[in-house]
Amino acid sequence: MSDDCLFCKIVSGTIPADIVYQDDRILAFSDINPQAPTHVLIIPKRHMATVDEVRSEHAALLGELFVTASKIAEDQGLRQGGYRMVVNCGEGAGQSVFHVHMHLLGGRPMAWPPG
Ligand code: 5GP
Ligand code: ZN
Repeated sequence: MSDDCLFCKIVSGTIPADIVYQDDRILAFSDINPQAPTHVLIIPKRHMATVDEVRSEHAALLGELFVTASKIAEDQGLRQGGYRMVVNCGEGAGQSVFHVHMHLLGGRPMAWPPG
């Protein structure tokens, strides 16, 4: 837990969010500024700022982000139309909240490459 981290405050309940899924290690909630009909953020509950901090001991925890994304995609009917998972690392890549998170986007066609 990092005191000045927005997503740690969502984990602790200090800041409210529309929670889509949680277990003891993972939290998923709707993005406040959705970029697609479904836009969910999936985070580890423990704080890590960026993917730069990821080490082999985090592999199982971060693998759960994919497991959770797959479940939510099924629950929200995204599988037929396809969906996208995005992880921005660093300001230059568009990261604005420095607590590792996966974006799950779906419900509309997706262009490639991303801008
Ligand atoms: P990033 O730009 O770091 O990859 O993604 C951060 C995401 O967090 C953005 O899509 C932004 O809309 C979302 N976000 C920022 N503040 C809040 C908030 O207070 N609540 C929720 N639910 N999402 C937020
Ligand atoms: Zn945090």
